[in-house]
Amino acid sequence: MKYLSSLKNEDLAGKICLLRIDFNIEKAELAGAKNHPRLASVLPTIEFLTKKGVKVVILSHRGRPGKVSSIKYQVSSYTLKPFADILSKELVQKVNFMANFNFSEIRGEIKKSKPGSIFLLENLRYFEGEEKNDKNFAKRLASLGDFFVNDAFSVSHRANASVAAITEFLPSYAGFQLEKEIKNLSIAIKKPLVVILGGAKISDKIGLLKNFMAEADYFLIGGGMAHNFLLAQGLPIGNSIFEEKTIGFAKKMLKNRKVILPADYVIKDRKILDIGPKTLEKYSEIIKNAKTIIWNGPMGYFENPKFAKGSEEIAKAIMANKKAFSIIGGGETTSLMSKVKCQKSNVFLSTGGGAMLEYLAGKKMPGIEALNK
Ligand code: ADP
Ligand code: MG
Repeated sequence: MKYLSSLKNEDLAGKICLLRIDFNIEKAELAGAKNHPRLASVLPTIEFLTKKGVKVVILSHRGRPGKVSSIKYQVSSYTLKPFADILSKELVQKVNFMANFNFSEIRGEIKKSKPGSIFLLENLRYFEGEEKNDKNFAKRLASLGDFFVNDAFSVSHRANASVAAITEFLPSYAGFQLEKEIKNLSIAIKKPLVVILGGAKISDKIGLLKNFMAEADYFLIGGGMAHNFLLAQGLPIGNSIFEEKTIGFAKKMLKNRKVILPADYVIKDRKILDIGPKTLEKYSEIIKNAKTIIWNGPMGYFENPKFAKGSEEIAKAIMANKKAFSIIGGGETTSLMSKVKCQKSNVFLSTGGGAMLEYLAGKKMPGIEALNK
């Protein structure tokens, strides 16, 4: 793999870099870059490039908007336009938003621009070719630049044109954040290994359970995931969130002694919204003795401070264990950490959720494989 950091002493002035980052963030307009770990994490790569006089063309997606013909640009939660303003403020530099995909026009604008200029293309998933990893689409994108940098770890488990196929047409590098992710997530796992799983995207996390079954010593379950286990035991969950398709798997897991379920819950309006105090005591004790900790998925509906205690106490227990190396990932899980003020060298905050889980599980990731070729 080639790293962008290896170009520190190269003269790149006037070159055009296609930079893939991940702006697939809900309500980021409200957060601003500094408050959002995934946004903050890409600023060093952009600054490095612009300081070298590289023209930066940012590629991203946001949500699944469907085909270009069926969508009105810039409406809804699909447009990337707000990110041009967020980045402009953060970088104190204009970020030119390219609202349409007129490639010859875009090429002209880039050519006219000064070294160090920044462009942001509209949501690439307006093109079908993006998610199909289509070579022709990748080639058209590649025609806009001189080299490609992937700094979007959180989409590197997707075979998408702007992540994978594009590397066939341009010299390609891993950006600073992607480099950090790869190095931190490749650590040797020391035992006991404690894996903490919660959140709402249950099937993503079930994958980790399967993949770490042999290696992990404990799985501490919380969040929506726990409700699936309650259902598997035939217990009622009222109006709590759950996921139908993974109940069968939860049933199989019930007999596994590594899988630890909450002992109590915080309930409101027939909904389980957090784990309870007995659970916290039990989980904190297990966390205390861990040598490696992996956490993905909040323990409850933490966006409401009334139900944040479970997640915050778990965060504190992790930080209190100075013997362990801890990996925490996921969009919501890491934004939760920014509230708890995490300043510890042996905690790595990954920008990936699903991607982190796949990487840790040793799966081959299309975006990373593409850079290895
Ligand atoms: P991540 O983004 O960290 O990978 P997920 O996207 O899987 O995590 O899930 C995060 C969401 O799960 C949060 O918005 C949180 O409110 C929600 N959540 C966790 N537990 C519950 C619960 N018991 N009831 C409702 N929502 C929950
Ligand atoms: Mg999420």
